[in-house]
Amino acid sequence: MRALRLHAPGDLRVDEVPLPEARDGDVVVEVEVALTGDAELRAFAAGSDALDGSPAPFGRELVGIDARDGRRVVAAATAPCGHCAACLADREALCRRPVRLEGALAERVLVPARIAEVNLHPVPRGLDPAVAALADSLACCLHAVERAGLRPGSLVAVLGSGPIGLLLCACVTDAGGYVAAVGGRTSRHSLAAAFGARPADPRDADVVIEAAGTQQARRDALELVQPGGTVLLVGTTEPGEPIAADAERIRGEELTLCGATGHAPRHFRAALAFLASGAYPWERLVTHEVSLEGVAALLADPPEDYLKAAVRP
Ligand SMILES: [Zn+2]
Repeated sequence: MRALRLHAPGDLRVDEVPLPEARDGDVVVEVEVALTGDAELRAFAAGSDALDGSPAPFGRELVGIDARDGRRVVAAATAPCGHCAACLADREALCRRPVRLEGALAERVLVPARIAEVNLHPVPRGLDPAVAALADSLACCLHAVERAGLRPGSLVAVLGSGPIGLLLCACVTDAGGYVAAVGGRTSRHSLAAAFGARPADPRDADVVIEAAGTQQARRDALELVQPGGTVLLVGTTEPGEPIAADAERIRGEELTLCGATGHAPRHFRAALAFLASGAYPWERLVTHEVSLEGVAALLADPPEDYLKAAVRP
């Protein structure tokens, strides 16, 4: 079958690879649509954790047909092990031994048994497959908003207007928060409004969510937050990266600094239902459509309006 594989940073090829074989509990899914997003942009530019000299499978978000029964299904990109101390403490996003799905950008993908067990669901009838494939990203955002501990009426500044920033706007709004979207290209501002952002002064924010993944945005987040407020880091960070914060403000203004990563199975289920509700124009996050062969060129020079691309192998 054909599969996209990353051979080196910037070197993404469509390779002919053996068909995946399901062992105990694994499920083979025939990919209908897979998505590229920020994670793929970063991996394309910088290489992947999995790059150890051999080509790495590429892509994590997909909807496809379950080879066992012909049902249309969506799989999460990860699943918690269910046994470690974090899982047993209901902090599944912090699982020490998470199981990962790899290689969604291919004709077929192997969904590991643990993901098939807890994070593989039928796509609700009538839901566009490309929209259903957003469930993993949306689940991360639902988890993040839970971590922010916001109250109804909280003013929440969301920094960053990529797919995650926009999904966060929707999650905050539906959690009863009032969203001020900050930064990003002006072309994204109307999109942020469609996902719930409203005009507000971000300097009054009770909660600031950093979803741009830049050091400047992290500095801005700490500047913006109100006394008693919370700064939540969601955007990508680098291992060992220091963060400059005013210790006097953190103590004297009783600020909370926290982070969020990943999701638990309940967030993934909730995300799928949220997508099926049609409450927000989710389809506007999928801005491009390309073939497997077209992915490398798209990621090498993403158009100004690129958020996510739907790839139909
Ligand atoms: Zn675990």
